[in-house]
Amino acid sequence: MKTFLEIVANDLYTKLDGNFENVSVVFPNKRASIFFNSHLARISDKPIWAPRYTTISELFQSLSTRTLADPILLVAYLYRSYVSITGSQETLDRFYSWGEMLISDFDDVDKNMADASKLFANISDLQNMTDFGFLEEDQVKAIQQFFVNFNPEDKTKLKEKFLSFWNILYPLYNSFRESLASDNLAYEGMMNREIIESIKSTSVIPASAESDLYVFVGFNVLNETERSLFRIMQKQGKALFYWDYDEAYIAPGQAGQSTFEAGRFIRENIRDFGSALDHGPQYANFRKPKNVHFISSPTENAQARYVSSWLGGVLNDSEPYNETAVVLCNEQLLPAILHSLPSQLITGKGKSSSMLLNVTMGYPLTDTPISSYVSALLKLQTDGASHRGEWRYRQVADILKHPYTSRLSSSATGILRTIRKNNMIYVPDSLFASDTALSRIFVRTDSTLALLRYLSEMTEIVGRSYMNEDKSDFNIQLYAESIYTTHSIINRLITICETGMLTVTQNTVARLIHQITSSRTIPFHGEPAIGLQVMGLLETRCLDFRNVIMLSVNEGQLPKSTHASSFIPYTLREAYGMTTIDKKTSLYAYYFYRLMQRAENITLMYNNSTDGLSKGEMSRFMLQMLLDNGQLFARGQSISQSAVSSPNEASQLRTLSVAKDKSVMENLYNRYDLEREAQYKKTHGDKDMLLTPSAINCYLDCPLKFYFQYGAGMRISDDVTEEVDNAMFGTIFHSCMEHIYGPNIGRQLQSSQLLDLAKDRAALERVADRAFAKEYFHKSDEYIEQHGTVHLYNGEQLLNRHVIVSYLMNQLTADAELCPMTILGVEIERYLDIEVPSARRFTTRIGGIIDRYDRITTPTGSLLRIVDYKTSTRPHKANSLEDLFDKSNAHRPYHILQAFYYSDVVSATEHEPISPALAYIKQTSAGSSPAIKIGKEEITDFASQVKDEYHEMLVSTIAEIFNPDIPFSQTDNVHHCEFCDFRTFCGR
Ligand code: SF4
Repeated sequence: MKTFLEIVANDLYTKLDGNFENVSVVFPNKRASIFFNSHLARISDKPIWAPRYTTISELFQSLSTRTLADPILLVAYLYRSYVSITGSQETLDRFYSWGEMLISDFDDVDKNMADASKLFANISDLQNMTDFGFLEEDQVKAIQQFFVNFNPEDKTKLKEKFLSFWNILYPLYNSFRESLASDNLAYEGMMNREIIESIKSTSVIPASAESDLYVFVGFNVLNETERSLFRIMQKQGKALFYWDYDEAYIAPGQAGQSTFEAGRFIRENIRDFGSALDHGPQYANFRKPKNVHFISSPTENAQARYVSSWLGGVLNDSEPYNETAVVLCNEQLLPAILHSLPSQLITGKGKSSSMLLNVTMGYPLTDTPISSYVSALLKLQTDGASHRGEWRYRQVADILKHPYTSRLSSSATGILRTIRKNNMIYVPDSLFASDTALSRIFVRTDSTLALLRYLSEMTEIVGRSYMNEDKSDFNIQLYAESIYTTHSIINRLITICETGMLTVTQNTVARLIHQITSSRTIPFHGEPAIGLQVMGLLETRCLDFRNVIMLSVNEGQLPKSTHASSFIPYTLREAYGMTTIDKKTSLYAYYFYRLMQRAENITLMYNNSTDGLSKGEMSRFMLQMLLDNGQLFARGQSISQSAVSSPNEASQLRTLSVAKDKSVMENLYNRYDLEREAQYKKTHGDKDMLLTPSAINCYLDCPLKFYFQYGAGMRISDDVTEEVDNAMFGTIFHSCMEHIYGPNIGRQLQSSQLLDLAKDRAALERVADRAFAKEYFHKSDEYIEQHGTVHLYNGEQLLNRHVIVSYLMNQLTADAELCPMTILGVEIERYLDIEVPSARRFTTRIGGIIDRYDRITTPTGSLLRIVDYKTSTRPHKANSLEDLFDKSNAHRPYHILQAFYYSDVVSATEHEPISPALAYIKQTSAGSSPAIKIGKEEITDFASQVKDEYHEMLVSTIAEIFNPDIPFSQTDNVHHCEFCDFRTFCGR
């Protein structure tokens, strides 16, 4: 296959006899010049001067004395003009996105040399329009953003608002350009227009256009300034034009008109400027035999996963990737592609240079770690400093957990652990003082400029940490490049701030940084002429590949269904020769067919699901290939179609299980075999070797989760929270009850005592304060003795204290009805050693801490009870004992299993009837019964009613846990995964 650039290089070499002195070759983009140069180098057998390579944008810049302002500076200038014209109070961050939109409109006006005074004064045309349906959705949204609190459904208002906005555009356009010109700056359109107008009025080409010949290669749609420059150069006899196309899409159809919009601009260009190449066989490639394959895919990511197997199928092992491109129509698919490609491509290890990966498209900056780090630093500075001169936990934790903090400081994780252990809601500076990196992070900034300088320093420090990393690793390149891009954005803002053009608060600048970074992509450097190319469609301009796979070739993606945002209605854009959506469609049609024309192996994939924004339709260009097959391809050329298999929901879930091999079984025995208790205590301190009801419930919910938590001993970090979550609420309530009944163990309590206490709110508040101090604020008994229990409650904590006191009142009132009552124990430990009937018989210990053990008075006598307090609002019910062990039930009554578990343990030594009870504290009231029922039968004598059957089921579950033939597998009940802490490991 001869590529277009190869053909041009050969032709130009012949035409100029290898003499490229004073020749400039102009491409639409930079990348093409690298490929072109490598072809040229191969043609000549002697050393030659290479021509000068430039892009059209660089050519215009070389003809101008102005400097191109960067996008951030442009918005800052426009904002200043806007505020001075309208007197608006709008903040810069709110202005930013539609400021960008306005600049893009002004750019388009100038590049197409539209008469701005007429365009923006064309108010009468607009006023006469009664139907404002000509406004695109984006335009209505922009106007709505512009005028807050306004209903776009109100058509009269919409018209009024739009017209008042339109009125300021011309003065704004002029003022913006004047303010840029006064600092010798410009945006691209302004610069191009000034050059063309100056040449036209003076007939003098700037002296900087010093080449004898300008060779324009691979252009398609031209804006008016480009067209004018081409004409000027041609008139001077200094221009040659090479167009790339295929006769299949520019040749006239049966009615004399080509049906392919892909050829629309090329036909005009050849007519206006001629062509340096004859219309010969080099333009008849579509008719050569090709392998064309259409593949539908059930998801976007499934396409990314398919790429690896496609590479394996198209290339043999020794074939270089140089002639192969993966083209993404949906650029958001890039992260998924990078994760699915063979690892040696990403790390650059073990392959020759031709087997390397070359990404020639932008990667979203917001998807990189530096973006989340800057966000965390901004949050720390804007929300993290408390009024007490300390830092708030949430913002501190986000910084300490971030991998970049760990890169800079080895003590970050330890300090976070300390903070969590002590439940420090407010963190003092002193905690970071001994660590150099952390003490640089945890400093307060008192102005916007100081905040920006702080971010600049932080990004520089993080960037320096990559200096000695292996740059051939693609991920390292990505991280280093993203840090550099972010650092540059921040430094740009510093410069603008220093000039006085950015006088905003810290919060505004934080939002502004978010706005700017969310629209940025990271350009990748590297050696673009070698390796597998992963690119966006725009980057394929002028390039040819033998093997092409294109992903997301969906209607809506190609061509894009969203119009470039603009304030200028379609009718006016069309009337003034500006860019319109149909011009863009023709342009993308050209990019698509041009890429196909010389390729030999073509695979086009599209997403056929109708989820979300996807309509599940192949692009109109693919459809056109099918319908106009005869006009495009040689006779007999076929297009095969297939589908990537549609994974059903179950197979979409990653399956993972842990086989109980020797080391897993050893872990289990070390944890639960009582013979190894001494060893266990050495490593676990005072902790008892115990198989708790929570562990059994965990196993029944998900065996794999049991393994993670109890087998492998993976720990879930206890987060510090300012909120009193449900678990903490229960702990505080338990602590209160322990405090109330603990001193009364063994005493018979009378109803009046409990009712008196229930009425004494102040006393119960003191009990609650003590429980808060111990459980929530982690204060020791000694501390409470010395300092009391006065806390600085926040509003929510105060509310929870109030609720807890109410529940205590309810519980005491309900307990009064059971009096006389004797408390036999609170928070007492009860254990039972049992033999596990597994392949390797051993003894383990079951049991745990019982909330309350009491003896109450009943009409028939007295009753021993085992009471468990529960905070749930949904009392558990069971129809049979089997329900307690039914793994398939997402709502298994595990509270009952736990209450029976304790009853089973206690009944081994206690010979009186035992009644297990569940006190749902949020529902307890006088007259409510906490007794447990199985079906309709109340369990008042555990041993005689259910013990044997229950014990058997329990032991058989324990035996299953220790059965080496049954792996720890994932639950089938995805409901349990919803709040599982191990989802990341598990992949669910
Ligand atoms: S995510 Fe689901 S399957 Fe995985 S361990 Fe947790 S509960 Fe089990």
